[in-house]
Amino acid sequence: MQFIISRYHPDKDSDPFEQTFEIDDALLSADSMLLDALHLIREQDPSLGFRSSCQEGICGSDGMNINGKNGLSCITSLSSLTQPIRLTPLPGLPIIKDLIIDMTLFYQQYSKVEPFLVTEPFNPNLEHLQSPEDRAKLDGAYECILCGCCSTSCPSFWWNPDQFAGPAALLAAQRFVIDSRDIQQIDRLTSLDSPTQTFRCRHIQNCTDACPKGLTPSRAIQALKSIMVNKLT
Ligand code: SF4
Repeated sequence: MQFIISRYHPDKDSDPFEQTFEIDDALLSADSMLLDALHLIREQDPSLGFRSSCQEGICGSDGMNINGKNGLSCITSLSSLTQPIRLTPLPGLPIIKDLIIDMTLFYQQYSKVEPFLVTEPFNPNLEHLQSPEDRAKLDGAYECILCGCCSTSCPSFWWNPDQFAGPAALLAAQRFVIDSRDIQQIDRLTSLDSPTQTFRCRHIQNCTDACPKGLTPSRAIQALKSIMVNKLT
């Protein structure tokens, strides 16, 4: 099995370059995941940089571009990929090393939408109850693992990662805007009602195509726009 992997060490390399690795098929099984192969490659070359942690599609740390599409290596089966398997870092953010990117801007945008419940009265010892119907509205909005696959597939985020919140942050924003317990709906909508925020999204659907958890950030952004039209005009 052949892999072509983008390598880059900013202290040594002027530009990223590609390196080819071969793995004996006998070392892999029918249900091997891409991450299994990366660990075998790192046995050949311990200098290869990539992130991983839970290996179950929960932590979101092993996002990378796999044959041209963003995804998680731990839940991407090798049998689903055509060879040679080409791996590059998630696009649009600075490369720290090889397949490891600096996600600072991604997390800053997430932080800016204040992804936490604001309730009245604030009392951490109180339960903040909601009806089963209101709870059900959050399905599809709360399961994000912050892997970054969506935002780093979005051209609007590539061009303005310091201004545009990006799909992941806007999905989180929508999750709290529609939460029946949150008291900041109008403030949240007002801060996102801008040509550089929600309305920077052109709905090209890259985010939804890329999400390894099957979430639909594009639909959440569309919902945000509709709520803005109804509540702010
Ligand atoms: Fe990852 Fe999906 Fe969350 Fe985007 S919405 S950060 S792709 S889990």
